[in-house]
Amino acid sequence: MAENSNDLPSLNDAIDEVSKEVLASLLKEICQEYPSTTELVQSRLFVSEDDVARPGKSATSTSVHGDSNSSDDKGEDTTPATDSRFKNLRKRYAECTNCKEEFDVAGNTVTSCSYHPDISQPDYEEFVDHDENCHGIIDSEEMREDFPENFYFVCCERRFNEKGCVTDWHMETRIDFGVSKRRKF
Ligand SMILES: [Zn+2]
Ligand SMILES: [Zn+2]
Repeated sequence: MAENSNDLPSLNDAIDEVSKEVLASLLKEICQEYPSTTELVQSRLFVSEDDVARPGKSATSTSVHGDSNSSDDKGEDTTPATDSRFKNLRKRYAECTNCKEEFDVAGNTVTSCSYHPDISQPDYEEFVDHDENCHGIIDSEEMREDFPENFYFVCCERRFNEKGCVTDWHMETRIDFGVSKRRKF
C-alpha cells in the first residue's frame, strides 16, 4: 500500500499467468486489428520447407546464410531476390516423437534432442514402505512426477529426472513420407 497507486501490475506477469486460450484469442484479435502484426506472427509460426533442418539434409545446402542460431534475429538481409522463402510454407513448430517436446523445425540439429529409447520402470526397492492399496499404483505417471528419483530407464539405468542417454535430431511426430515434396498444385 505504500507503493505508488499508479503502479500497474506487471504486464509480463499477466502474460505468463494467463491461459493459452486467452493468449491465442488475444493474438488473433491483434492480428486482425494490425496487419503488420500478422506478418510478424506468420514469419514466426511458419517456415519454408526449404529451411527445415533434418537428418540427411546438409545444413549448408539450404542456402540460408548465418541462420544457425539466430532464431531471434530477423535475418532478412540474406533473402534471395526471388521470394522463394515463402514457397512451401509449413508450420514452424512440431512435437518430437522421442522427447515429446515442441521444437523449431528450422533450428533442429543433430544434438537438439535428448531422450531415452527405452521405457522407465519403478525401482521397487525404493518403495518398500509403499502400499499400493492406500498409496496408489506405483507404476504410474503420477508417481513418476512425484518421485522421479525412484524410477529408472531400462536403456541406461539413469533416473527418471536425468538427462536422456541418446542425443539426436528431434523427430517429428507427423510421419513425413515426402508428402510435402509430392504436394498437389
Ligand atoms: Zn536411457
Ligand atoms: Zn526431441
